[in-house]
Amino acid sequence: MVSGPVVTRFAPSPTGFLHIGGARTALFSWAFARHHGGKFLLRIEDTDRARSTDAAIEAILDGMAWLGLDADDAPVFQHKNADRHIEIAQTLLASGHAYKCYCTPEEIEAMREAARAAGKPPRYDGTWRDRDPAEAPDGQAYVVRFRAPQEGHVEINDCVQGTVTIANDQLDDLIILRSDNTPTYMLSVVVDDHDMGVTHIIRGDDHLTNAARQIQIYNALGWQVPVFAHVPLIHGSDGAKLSKRHGALGVDAYRDMGLLPEAMRNYLARLGWSHGDDEIFTTEQFIAWFGLEAIGKSPARFDTTKLENVNGHHIRRHDDAALAALVCASTPELAPVQATLEIAMPVLKERAKNLHEIADMGRFLISARPIEISEKAAKALTPEARARLGALRPRLEALENWEHEPIEAEIRAFLTEHDLKLGDIAPALRAALTGTPVSPGIFDVVALLEKAEVLGRLEDQI
Ligand code: GLU
Repeated sequence: MVSGPVVTRFAPSPTGFLHIGGARTALFSWAFARHHGGKFLLRIEDTDRARSTDAAIEAILDGMAWLGLDADDAPVFQHKNADRHIEIAQTLLASGHAYKCYCTPEEIEAMREAARAAGKPPRYDGTWRDRDPAEAPDGQAYVVRFRAPQEGHVEINDCVQGTVTIANDQLDDLIILRSDNTPTYMLSVVVDDHDMGVTHIIRGDDHLTNAARQIQIYNALGWQVPVFAHVPLIHGSDGAKLSKRHGALGVDAYRDMGLLPEAMRNYLARLGWSHGDDEIFTTEQFIAWFGLEAIGKSPARFDTTKLENVNGHHIRRHDDAALAALVCASTPELAPVQATLEIAMPVLKERAKNLHEIADMGRFLISARPIEISEKAAKALTPEARARLGALRPRLEALENWEHEPIEAEIRAFLTEHDLKLGDIAPALRAALTGTPVSPGIFDVVALLEKAEVLGRLEDQI
């Protein structure tokens, strides 16, 4: 067991965008550190130089920043630690926990073939494990292999999976240093986690077998094994492994969909973790409640509809001025009416599931005359309805106090006098003023527009 402050890390390989599974792993690691007042670190696992890209690194950093998952130190770039990884490989060689293997690629291929033919998983057969290094062919390239224990078993005391036992004879002698003297992933991860003081490793359960191999390396080095929590992967709503088809996009795509980071955190938190029946909560609550014991053992299902629903809840809780600013940032043409949007926000955000829906609801504020009337909205503009608008217009023109209440009183008085109901004029009024069949409350719409603009838009339809 670990004593002292908690240190967690997120260790993505920068070979693609920050996907939803990675974001959740990062969130859990971050929340765990915050809950315990510990440290959360970011390590970019860029040892695979050929597959790592700057664009992917940027996407990861951007995504983390948007999600508000702040690391406590500057990101560690794994490839920069290569010398240290090589040094540890040498230590393992010196202590007999590793050895040089001179097998040629052809010999390795033959081993694979033989295993395949015997219906066994391909594995290294230990050719150089116990061979006298003096027999090494002159000038022949070698790799360094870890001398994995062959007897007994490794136990992973996983906080999510429980105790997982893997027989040592299932784990062959893996390469820790390639023939070009570059360290491999399995060694680098162990060395970096140790050097960074990581106490808790929270990651996807696709790394469970790796944990067994890594524990062997920790033990060989006499290093303290961190606590592991292997979280079940995320599935699509149909139960199949998550793919693009299910909406498994980069985190940036969710920002572009007009989601709020706090909603994303809330939704991701519920993917595989629960706190009673709580579905909607703040990040502060999440941090206060989060623990590894409440992570589920079965894969969570990703559901875009639910995500948008959670987003709607957070939109309604969000500060109106801040929302108006966010809407204007994602829909710059609304920027000139940001102040009006802010006033209208309680109405605009009422049913919105994302920022774009707010923008759509608010777009009538900037439409230029004569405004475009959608086909659906146009249906309300019958000759009879236009005549009513014509009768209403001078009443509004005469109105001095252009505010919600007097506007509503005036329109209602007009309706009473003409023996009409609100439904007899609202659709046409909405169509004339917004060009759409859905909008905020009709009195809000009239009041939010300037008087001259309302009179003008009515004029256009009479
Ligand atoms: N770099 C690995 C990945 O992106 C994660 C390694 C780890 O978390 O230990 O899958």
